Amino acid sequence: MSQSVIGSHKFDLDTPILCIDLDIMEANIQKMSDYILSRGKTWRPHEKCHKTPAIALAQMGAGAIGVTCAKVSEAEVMAAAGVKDILIANMIVGKTKWERVVSLCRHARPIIACDHYAQIEPLAKMCADAGVVCRMMPEVNIGLNRVGSRPGQDTLDLAMAIDKLEGVELAGIMGYEGHLLQIQDQAEKEEKIIEAMRTLVGCKTTIEAKGIPCEIVSAGGTGSYQITSNCEGITELQAGGGIFADPMYVNKCGLTGLDYSLSVLATVVSRPEKGRMVLDCGRKTMHPDFQLPLVKAWPDAEVTALSAEHCAVTLGPESQDLKIGDKIELIPGYADFTTILHENFYGFRKDRLEVVWPIQGRGKIQ
Ligand code: PLP
Repeated sequence: MSQSVIGSHKFDLDTPILCIDLDIMEANIQKMSDYILSRGKTWRPHEKCHKTPAIALAQMGAGAIGVTCAKVSEAEVMAAAGVKDILIANMIVGKTKWERVVSLCRHARPIIACDHYAQIEPLAKMCADAGVVCRMMPEVNIGLNRVGSRPGQDTLDLAMAIDKLEGVELAGIMGYEGHLLQIQDQAEKEEKIIEAMRTLVGCKTTIEAKGIPCEIVSAGGTGSYQITSNCEGITELQAGGGIFADPMYVNKCGLTGLDYSLSVLATVVSRPEKGRMVLDCGRKTMHPDFQLPLVKAWPDAEVTALSAEHCAVTLGPESQDLKIGDKIELIPGYADFTTILHENFYGFRKDRLEVVWPIQGRGKIQ
């Protein structure tokens, strides 16, 4: 779809498309930033929910210091748009990727996560040979049991190795409390997150006791940032997905204060029964993992099944007059897996199309 549709009314556009309510997203961005900055922390939002430089720049306009990415290729997209302070919160392995990191160091100020000497030493050598210095950040396993060095001696050894090697320097440490987001008892959730953050901050203390500066202590996600932002010693928050405030965060992680800003505009293509309709958006448009989509504006309509190109919705008394050709909006359960299925975000101010943003990080999986 070309830019010539700018100004169109949402319901005049062809479907399915991925829509952003700009007023709500901008308010979510500002609220997240204000929450984090008012607690004396910096904000480095993970970009995996949007993968779009225009949105990263909007977050920076609201106070973020840069972005968190998962992949070198995502970081390249962000650097090309002028974002400098980029954390790649993932283990980067292999000569090809290290070469890309060396190049990235000439255009931005990346930080690369690591949990083993084998990821550090070859990159350090390549950086030193190229005359650049790359910032590195051990990821500490604070209970997620995904990646990460053990707190204590293992993390200290990594920090000391980075400190010693030419070509790299220690930016700080990170951890992700992803295993604690869905604890339903709020007091228990808070207690466990505080404990995990104490473990992380303890690593910084141990590193600094050896005379090695460890400035950044980075953690947090949307499902936990309202707690992690209040933890002593944490300097930076990676929470990103709150800009869309997906139902998954609200229903499963107890996220409050932010509103749904993402939707899929769809068309009713079949009405097999009075109490059931079928939309033109299946799994190739919206990913059903974690949480099925919600139906916007029709509270008695419920998504029951998604196949490749069909979305089945049961209808109650208020929604059962919807007919073939009508357009409605669905709120994806979890943006991350839905964004990557689309070429563009369609940004609306009220119901008028204001911007079309190519999702430039889509497909950037290396
Ligand atoms: N940081 C890391 C390293 C992550 O893996 C994640 C989520 O998977 C997050 C932060 C949180 O991201 P979000 O706020 O989008 O849920």
